[in-house]
Amino acid sequence: MPLAATGELVARAAAAHSAVAAFNIITLEHVEAVIAGAEEARSPVVLQVSENAVKFRYGRLLPLAAAAVAAAERACVSVALHLDHVQSDDLLRQAPGAGFGSVMYDASRLPYAQNLAATRAAADWAHAQGLWIEAELGSIGGKTGQPEYATGRPDDAAPGVREESVPGGTGVAPGGRDGSAPSGPGPSGAGVSAPVGPPTLDAHAPGARTDPDEARAFVARTGVDALAVAIGSVHAMTTRTAALDHELLQRLSAAVPVPLVLHGSSGVPDDGLVAAVAGGIAKVNVGTALNQAMTGAIRDFLAAHPEAVDSRKYLSVGREAMAGEVARIIRVLGRAAPAAHGGRAATS
Ligand SMILES: [Zn+2]
Repeated sequence: MPLAATGELVARAAAAHSAVAAFNIITLEHVEAVIAGAEEARSPVVLQVSENAVKFRYGRLLPLAAAAVAAAERACVSVALHLDHVQSDDLLRQAPGAGFGSVMYDASRLPYAQNLAATRAAADWAHAQGLWIEAELGSIGGKTGQPEYATGRPDDAAPGVREESVPGGTGVAPGGRDGSAPSGPGPSGAGVSAPVGPPTLDAHAPGARTDPDEARAFVARTGVDALAVAIGSVHAMTTRTAALDHELLQRLSAAVPVPLVLHGSSGVPDDGLVAAVAGGIAKVNVGTALNQAMTGAIRDFLAAHPEAVDSRKYLSVGREAMAGEVARIIRVLGRAAPAAHGGRAATS
């Protein structure tokens, strides 16, 4: 079937008090595994390509995107294509031509006022292209009554890696995260004249929290279609031990009129995910859990078959493990709203 629109999948999930799962794809095996898992769970799904995945693919978006589009169009379930954690204006502008129906624009590294201006410019541009756009807002440091975060980034100018490079859930890697160069005064020229405010804390830094009043104002002033919120999950966690702030999620849900998105979901235990969806999360981003499944399966296979040479042998094992994890996560999300998933999922 033709590519689905992310915005429609999220809206449908939100209306059903459910959530659509969005999985980060890096290789063709990821693409095939996510679609196979979604088909097994008979659920719509979002394939997302992060800016870091594009960097891994020699900076080229199109080869992976074209493969994802071709695979999605042959799927038995609705599949949408989403460009994730875009910091580069250049990459943002490639989205519509590469088949993406939505983008997550990430200016959270910028001070609040510049984040706001850059996100607004990106949202205006995205909407003119017919794209659905998600943004994120973490906690803003230095405000009266807010705690100091010892884990905040020392260098606010350095953009960097999110999903892939921070093992163990310890948050931001030291020293600019992916070693890439700072990207200038702000996307679309939007941040150039913006006043320099206190640094915005990365929404995924340990300890980061999104303030409901700021979130409501941010959404109103930027016009974004969805908001990623900081409620206790952290990117790239390899243990499922993140404790979400469900009381804060409730307040965010009441304050913000657009669907809320959870990033760093790989680190959240199943019950926490179910509660988050019940509390208003309508899109759940998963990256690390797939890589854990894939890498673990391949590691075991190669340990058991040290003579193995044919890459198809171990890639098929890794792909199968990923597909199983995709189906499992979709079913976990279905526990929050069984009716939205055809009533097949367990309700315990
Ligand atoms: Zn993320």
